[in-house]
Amino acid sequence: AEFKEVNIHEGINHTLMILQHRLNLQSNRPKIQVIKHYAKLPLVECFARQLNQVFMNILTNAIDALDETQLERIESLTIWIKTQVKSETSVMITISNNGKPIAEEIKSKIFDPFFTTKPIGKGTGLGLSISYQIVTEKHHGRLWCDSTPGNNTKFCIEIPIYQNSH
Ligand code: ADP
Ligand code: MG
Repeated sequence: AEFKEVNIHEGINHTLMILQHRLNLQSNRPKIQVIKHYAKLPLVECFARQLNQVFMNILTNAIDALDETQLERIESLTIWIKTQVKSETSVMITISNNGKPIAEEIKSKIFDPFFTTKPIGKGTGLGLSISYQIVTEKHHGRLWCDSTPGNNTKFCIEIPIYQNSH
């Protein structure tokens, strides 16, 4: 595979389209609203399909968390997607949600392969570990979870704009 110059927003929007049924169709529950804050981004050199896999994994986790959230706790089920130029050489994508938070005692394990809190058949525990590999090893970027008690659960993806392979 080769790096291609990619429009990050197209990748996110495409992934959201695939997930549309899960955002809308919820029996007896309000639909999940998605709020986008897209900055003007440069094209980014990356493996588009792999990066879309990362968006898919993180957005699926956000939807799963919102599905498990007691409605009394919050007034709306929301996913925020924010993009920004982070530095002269990188962009950052932040995906957060206001669903059931990540328990303090499992935070150090969520990126481990096969770690899951979901029932068999629902989760493989591989989404975040694969995403971590794609972002850090394949794209020389960073992926981390930023969630403090009382706040939204936030995943940050930092990706270099250029891969110095040429
Ligand atoms: P899986 O989704 O198959 O369980 P992942 O690697 O994608 O595996 O995630 C591992 C665990 O991290 C999940 O089981 C869940 O406990 C936790 N997690 C990940 N993202 C979120 C999120 N947005 N909100 C709450 N918990 C999360
Ligand atoms: Mg997952």
